[in-house]
Amino acid sequence: MVSRVIPVDPFDLVIFGGTGDLARRKILPGLFRRFLAGQMPGESRIIGAARSDMDDAAFRAMVHEAIKEFGGRESADEAHLRAFLNRLHYVSIDAKGDGGWAQLSGLMVEDRIRAFYFSVAPSLFGDLAERLHTFEIANKASRIVVEKPFGRDLETARALNATLAAHFDENQIYRIDHYLGKETVQNLMAVRFGNVLFEPLWNNHYVDHIQITVAETVGVGGRGAYYDKSGAMRDMVQNHLMQLLCLIAMEPPSQFNADSVRDEKLKVIRALQPMENHHIVRGQYDRGKDGQGYRNDVENDRSFTESFIAMKCHIANWRWAGVPFYLRTGKKMKARSSEIAVVFRDLGHSIFEGDEARHRNILSIRLQPNEGMDLQVTIKEPGPGGMRLVDVPLDMTFADALGPDAADVPDAYERLIMDVIRGNQTLFMRGDEVEAAWAWTDPIIKGWESRNDVPKLYEPGSAGPDDSLMLLHRDGRRWRDIKG
Ligand code: NAD
Repeated sequence: MVSRVIPVDPFDLVIFGGTGDLARRKILPGLFRRFLAGQMPGESRIIGAARSDMDDAAFRAMVHEAIKEFGGRESADEAHLRAFLNRLHYVSIDAKGDGGWAQLSGLMVEDRIRAFYFSVAPSLFGDLAERLHTFEIANKASRIVVEKPFGRDLETARALNATLAAHFDENQIYRIDHYLGKETVQNLMAVRFGNVLFEPLWNNHYVDHIQITVAETVGVGGRGAYYDKSGAMRDMVQNHLMQLLCLIAMEPPSQFNADSVRDEKLKVIRALQPMENHHIVRGQYDRGKDGQGYRNDVENDRSFTESFIAMKCHIANWRWAGVPFYLRTGKKMKARSSEIAVVFRDLGHSIFEGDEARHRNILSIRLQPNEGMDLQVTIKEPGPGGMRLVDVPLDMTFADALGPDAADVPDAYERLIMDVIRGNQTLFMRGDEVEAAWAWTDPIIKGWESRNDVPKLYEPGSAGPDDSLMLLHRDGRRWRDIKG
């Protein structure tokens, strides 16, 4: 199979925070791969804009090093890497002052797509938006990309939306959630809405429950101070897990376009039932063998912040009434694994004599590692010995069926940045979606804060606190194993 790359028009991408961690690890190496794929046509440029005082040559040297470190095997292609670096420029800028803005304005050329990536702290978003207008750098066709966190509650998210809306229309604002850029997340929509097989079963008549797990093996690392003010609910559930839940649960949009898809996602969030406290388990990782626990990592020995959360949610609509959605995410878990599992109901009756085992169809959508999908089906065990049934995964991973090129898919950031250049907002969060998600999570967080809720300790390298297992046990169900 020959991989098909959709051409884009020439563009200038300004990365505010171009010297930061995210730019060096994800954005710039991703752009290099898109350059190799032929998606930086003509005179397209990338302009780093950050506080550090450096010139084009120093910025190129920094990006060179970053691509060598984070760029994967493509970074060995020195000739193309040089050509890519020549497309890079740098402006030293102060988001909070006027320094550097006139220079950036002078770099802009007419008749080219302009995109501005806000890869800086959200407290600078307003300053950037305002100065892009004051210095007439942004126009009606420009796009801005904003990173998470998008607020820390409904009030701050509303304020942030209002700040951006003062200078940009909603169709210019790209709120990034890189989970939506993952190949399998999009494949989930293709499988649901491109086949006749699944959609008739996608409801409370055939689905027993759904599990969404996002497990990390790392602790809070160097982000302790930020994380301790945030916790798993704000850092992971309100955005990534909610987005995955929406895609799994939404009604079929009438078309695959930005507003049709986002309208349906919004309806899911609005249909989420308020949470009951006994349906939530909060956890905090304990000291491991190295003596380091969560509280050491965040340097706060009185912290009540959760590094793990498991919850049972319900969506109050006709399709999903009575079907639990179990969500779970945590740090320092036994494996790095993100999976959505749609667990179908048991057979009403088995015609096979002596078959005591419970056979279930499970559609598993793996986001990491080894992105792919499989469907657990029951078949006859080959060979003699009568009608012995066995459950096997039917591999729906594209690589085998479509050839080796198909496995070489762009990373989530690459795909999403190219969507920005193409002007396609389907995989970005709309302002009202983000606010609705906060409106649902706010009362939960406020409840913990008012009660001084203490998270349960769990062993590093485990599957979280025992109470999380009990959450499903009580319903006669069990979590799927967390496998890396
Ligand atoms: P960072 O601290 O590594 O980099 C911050 C960048 O902002 C630097 O380039 C710095 O020069 C620039 N900057 C700071 N103050 C400035 C000012 N007054 N004027 C102009 N530039 C200024 O941060 P990061 O980790 O790259 O994160 C950037 C954004 O992306 C944050 O909003 C963060 O929450 C978000 N994010 C980061 C990651 C990640 O993996 N690093 C993941 C998801 C979201």
